[in-house]
Amino acid sequence: SVPAAMASGLSAGARRGLLIKGGAALEEIGTARTVAFDKTGTLTEGRPKVTDILPVQGMTEVDVLTLAAGAEQGSSHPLAKAVLAEAEARGVAAPQVSEQAAVPGKAVTATVNGRKVSVGSPRHAAEVGASLGQLAEAVARLEGEGKTAVVVVADGAPAGVLALRDEPRGDAVAGVAALSRLGIRSVMLTGDNARTGAAIAKGLGLDVKAELLPDDKLREIGALRSSGSVVMVGDGINDAPALAAASVGVAMGGGTDVALETADAAVLKDRVTGVSELVSLSRATMANVK
Ligand code: ADP
Ligand code: MG
Repeated sequence: SVPAAMASGLSAGARRGLLIKGGAALEEIGTARTVAFDKTGTLTEGRPKVTDILPVQGMTEVDVLTLAAGAEQGSSHPLAKAVLAEAEARGVAAPQVSEQAAVPGKAVTATVNGRKVSVGSPRHAAEVGASLGQLAEAVARLEGEGKTAVVVVADGAPAGVLALRDEPRGDAVAGVAALSRLGIRSVMLTGDNARTGAAIAKGLGLDVKAELLPDDKLREIGALRSSGSVVMVGDGINDAPALAAASVGVAMGGGTDVALETADAAVLKDRVTGVSELVSLSRATMANVK
């Protein structure tokens, strides 16, 4: 019977760490034309590390790191955690910090040791009138290496650049290739800049839409849905709206309970290959139903 076939599909998934909320989601996943992946924490480990610090003339690496760590204090953004870890590893003295604020998808700002500081994308630095000048070439080179370059601006002028690298998950290439064999196109959605996004996407073998603000991600999913069913894969923590906007939202990893509240399915243990397994399970189940 149909309910029996669905129930056995759901339980077969659960045994392999693939949680599916119900029959409707199980049926739809197999019809996906496109899988949209969030980058940070989904296709990548989500634990970026500081790889380079480039001060402008007259500043030291420690000066730049002190301002950056001050502004990032208390932020839970993965880039903030990386900057704070680097400052701690180098024994940087804690500065005086006040008036912290986040500019979502762009930067953090704060007053650090009496100076107005922002740490964020090169585009954000340009928007606030801090021309990169001598740093522009270095930013382009770092981004071409798949690193995220953030600009530390102090009192309206660049103080330096930090580069951070977030390694792709070990099975990300295999996970994308498996979807491709099932006839499904994969695309990476990221707030990161176009050059960094392109470098990472090239290594993983999928398409990319970069420089997306949170609302842009929703719009991209809407656009993709005009050509068929779209599965969105994210970590379920800061991408709940995108998961909800997709035909099927799939949460990856860790905070399973929270994730399943917003998503239609979850892959436990951060396996990118779990997404193609969900598709195969759906198709096998529906073949039994018919
Ligand atoms: P993603 O889509 O990769 O998760 P976000 O939307 O969180 O990226 O951020 C997009 C970009 O904005 C980052 O690549 C970075 O340049 C900048 N940014 C956002 N928050 C911060 C922060 N706390 N510190 C430094 N840069 C930030
Ligand atoms: Mg994010």
